Amino acid sequence: MNQKITIAIDGYSSCGKSTLARELAKSLHYVFIDSGAMYRGVTLFALQNTCISSHELNRGKLISLLDQIELKFVLNPETKSPELLLNGVNVEKQIRTPEISSFVSEVAAIKEVREKLVAEQQFMGNQGGIVMDGRDIGSVVFPNAELKLFITAEIETRVERRYQELQFRGTPTSKDEVRENLLRRDHIDSTRKESPLVQVDDAIVIDNTHLSKSEQLDLALQYVDKAIATLV
Ligand code: C5P
Repeated sequence: MNQKITIAIDGYSSCGKSTLARELAKSLHYVFIDSGAMYRGVTLFALQNTCISSHELNRGKLISLLDQIELKFVLNPETKSPELLLNGVNVEKQIRTPEISSFVSEVAAIKEVREKLVAEQQFMGNQGGIVMDGRDIGSVVFPNAELKLFITAEIETRVERRYQELQFRGTPTSKDEVRENLLRRDHIDSTRKESPLVQVDDAIVIDNTHLSKSEQLDLALQYVDKAIATLV
């Protein structure tokens, strides 16, 4: 497996896309980019710079400040996972809160935000050997990716996984709140005007409702082998 391909992973919220992308990248020695973290980073910046107040997003103000946002990933030496730096500060924990989750889809629907982040994502992936997960990776960021996966899972499975993750981090929430947030984000993400979440025709669908993490990884690795085999 010397030839390095581009792997695009899309799907609804909390389907386990990032988990799969991270594990695939580790197995293949590829770079992993969680594009959702970048939209979360812009949302955190918006909160810190009063572009969101009284639950209202001031789009114009955020757009005017976009040039001041620098996003970078650094590898955590212990976990070997990439973590997001917002203007030089590690914000990996701060971007995973329910507050960020409640605003991120409105921020991600802004055309200028998407243009900035898509350009940065395409730059990061221009050498191949990358696994990126998000909502528009196979459709907009890497339409020529050699392998496109579309991940799904039943809603109650997704709620349970997200709820357990938040419990583990000590974030107070309820399953009803988690369900409401996931469904709301799915709705905004798939109905927005700018590059909505779609299942592209050439994507392979993986429903992981009844798959363990290692079963899902094995399946995805088989698709990687097939994609590489068609290249030679
Ligand atoms: O993947 P994650 O759930 O962390 O993404 C957070 C939000 O960022 C999504 O709900 C979506 O609104 C937005 N997003 C996007 N396009 C991507 C990745 C994430 O619009 N490629």
